[in-house]
Amino acid sequence: MRKKIVAGNWKMNKTLDEALALTSEVVNMIKDEVTGDVEVVLCVPSLYLTTLNKYVDNAAKVSLGAQNCHEKASGAFTGEISAPMLKSAGVPYVIIGHSERRQYFAETNVQLAAKVDIALENGLTPIFCCGESLDQRQNEDYIGFVKNQLTESLFHLSAEQLASVVIAYEPIWAIGTGLTASAEQAQEMHAALRAHLSEKYGQEVADGISILYGGSVGAANAAELFAGADVDGGLVGGASLKSRDFTEIVKARQ
Ligand code: PGA
Repeated sequence: MRKKIVAGNWKMNKTLDEALALTSEVVNMIKDEVTGDVEVVLCVPSLYLTTLNKYVDNAAKVSLGAQNCHEKASGAFTGEISAPMLKSAGVPYVIIGHSERRQYFAETNVQLAAKVDIALENGLTPIFCCGESLDQRQNEDYIGFVKNQLTESLFHLSAEQLASVVIAYEPIWAIGTGLTASAEQAQEMHAALRAHLSEKYGQEVADGISILYGGSVGAANAAELFAGADVDGGLVGGASLKSRDFTEIVKARQ
């Protein structure tokens, strides 16, 4: 059985006080209202990870993730955060290759392969993001484009390493736009990515990988999106900033 996961990506939002309040609310709501087997990950600004780690409740299956890490273990990289630092702070997850990192910080598939490696070396679970732009969806082999992101950033891994990776499919045209992929579009891509993993690693390995959908997931559309057989959860941006909405999304996945 694959893990069901709902991860919130707070991006560059919330002051410390707001972050503390939101985390407490989410932890309490999850504890009170979610009975099913679903892992909840809050990917918060790195600055808050050590403080918030005291607020999350492993018993309630809420844990923390970072939104990025550097591909090197340490060194003269002003402003950056490394995978060993995240490990030392007790952070279990890290988002790798979010489309905003690819777009604004020019992160490449090759560089992301190195980030996945260092995350795994440090026992972190990478949430590896992939997805096509609107132009690519309209003009190119969009499934081939996303498959290639997996090939270039993940296919150097052993089957054992790959088993520790979570994949998040996030069509760029659906991020923060209020425009979601339809449940059929999400399922189509998720099934294609799983088939791609299966060709390289075999069906059993592919069947064990959780593939999350991201892009304008909200309380109103989560259940429909999560109904796809290959949609194992969500990576939630805007709606993760509101405890009630986020909890409803978690409940839709349990
Ligand atoms: P969104 O963001 O839910 O606000 O569309 C998703 C993401 O970027 O991870």
